[in-house]
Amino acid sequence: MNCYECKKRIKDFLNDSLNSKNCIAFVEHVKSCNECMEELSIEFLVNEGLKRLDTATSFDLERELNEKINQAYSKAKFYKHFALICSIVVFATAFILGVFLSTLFSY
Ligand SMILES: [Zn+2]
Repeated sequence: MNCYECKKRIKDFLNDSLNSKNCIAFVEHVKSCNECMEELSIEFLVNEGLKRLDTATSFDLERELNEKINQAYSKAKFYKHFALICSIVVFATAFILGVFLSTLFSY
């Protein structure tokens, strides 16, 4: 992912609407690119800051952003692996069923 694509996806990331593949690429980019990380921090501060203007509670937005990034990343990784495991299971089941059926009909 390049900086242009990354910046286009900041809003989607903050709304949790990136798919796993884009989310992983996005997080990997912002972690290695200071410019995009700064852009993301600003967007996050503006978004969250505005939402909480009425609440007087103190908040640590930088920590929250880091948590959001890490959570989104591990979730995306999990789903990616989960999808892979699912397709392996489906494939294996189809294979076993195929072998089973072919032995069934070979007699
Ligand atoms: Zn960048």
